[in-house]
Amino acid sequence: VSPAEFAELTRGIEQIYADLLPDRSGEVAQYIPTLRDADPDKFAIAICTADGQLFQIGDTGLGFSVQSTSKPFSYAMALEQFGSAEVHKWVGQEQSGGTFNDPRLSLDAAGKPQNPMINAGAIATLALVRPQLEVSERFAQVEQTWTRMMGRSPGFDHRTFLAERDTGHGNRGLANLMAAKEMLNVDPTDRDAPQKAAEFYFAVCSLEVDTRGLAAAGATLANGGVAPYTGERVFSQETAGRVLSVMGHSGMYNDSGEFSGQVGLPAKSGVSGNVMMVVPEKRLAVVTFSPRLDAAGNSVRGREVCRRLVQDFGLHPYAQL
Ligand code: GLU
Repeated sequence: VSPAEFAELTRGIEQIYADLLPDRSGEVAQYIPTLRDADPDKFAIAICTADGQLFQIGDTGLGFSVQSTSKPFSYAMALEQFGSAEVHKWVGQEQSGGTFNDPRLSLDAAGKPQNPMINAGAIATLALVRPQLEVSERFAQVEQTWTRMMGRSPGFDHRTFLAERDTGHGNRGLANLMAAKEMLNVDPTDRDAPQKAAEFYFAVCSLEVDTRGLAAAGATLANGGVAPYTGERVFSQETAGRVLSVMGHSGMYNDSGEFSGQVGLPAKSGVSGNVMMVVPEKRLAVVTFSPRLDAAGNSVRGREVCRRLVQDFGLHPYAQL
C-alpha cells in the first residue's frame, strides 16, 4: 500500500478504535488465573504492511500469551520441514465441526486431527517440528522462527505455562488418543511421549508477544513468507498460502463459517483476546488485543474491528464483484 493509502487506513482504524473503546461486552477467559486476571479494558490495534509500515493505537506494547494464534505458525514450520504431502498424513485440512478442544469431533475415524487450527492438530503439527531434537532445542527453533518474523524475540509467560500444564487434561487426552492410533509423530516405545507432546504445545501457547510483534508475524504471511522488517524469507510462498487458506476456513473457532461469510479474510484468534487478520489484497496484517471474549471464544472488539475494517474499506474479496 502507498503511504497515502496507508494514511487513509490509519484514520479509519482510529475511528474504529474510538467507536469500539466503550464496548465492554463479553467475558475474559476463566479457565486459568493469568487470563482470568487480565485487565478486561485493555485495547490495542496494530497494522503492519509487507514493506514494514506500522501503525499502532492503544495498549500495543502490552504483552500477552499468544495461545491459539501460535497454531498457524506451528503448521507453517511443519510444512517447511516436511512438505504438505507428509504433513497431511498426520493432520487434515477440513473444518472440524466441533470446538477447538472437542474430544469427539477433533479426530477423524483414523485418529487424524481434522485441521491444524484445533488443539489436536496443533499438537500433531508441533510433533513435526524438528522431531529428532531434544525438546528444549525444538522450542528454541520455534522461538527463532518468531524472532525472524517479528524482528525481535518473543517473551515467555511462565505463569500461563504452569497453569496450562496443570489444567491441560483434555489436551493430554487428545495427545493420548492420537498416539493410540499411531497418529502422533512420537517415539512409540516412550509411554510419556504424548504427555511431552502436549507439554510442548502448552509451552508454545505461552510464548508472549504484543500487538505490534504479532502484526509483523501476520505481515510475514501477507508477504508470502518474507518478514516485513528484515526482508528475510522465513517460509516459502506455498507455505504462507496454505497457512492462510486453513486460517480462512478454521481460524475463528466455531464462528469460522460466519466470519468467513461476513469478513471473508483469513484470521486466527487466541483465548487471551488477540485476533490476527491478514488482508492479502493489501499485503498487510491487522492485529487486535482486547481480552473480553464472545461465546465462540473470539475477542468481541477484535472481531468487530475485522468486520468494520472490511465493511468501511470494501475488503471482502467476494462481496463487490
Ligand atoms: N491454550 C488453551 C488450550 O489449549 C487455549 C488456546 C486457545 O484457544 O487460544 O486449551
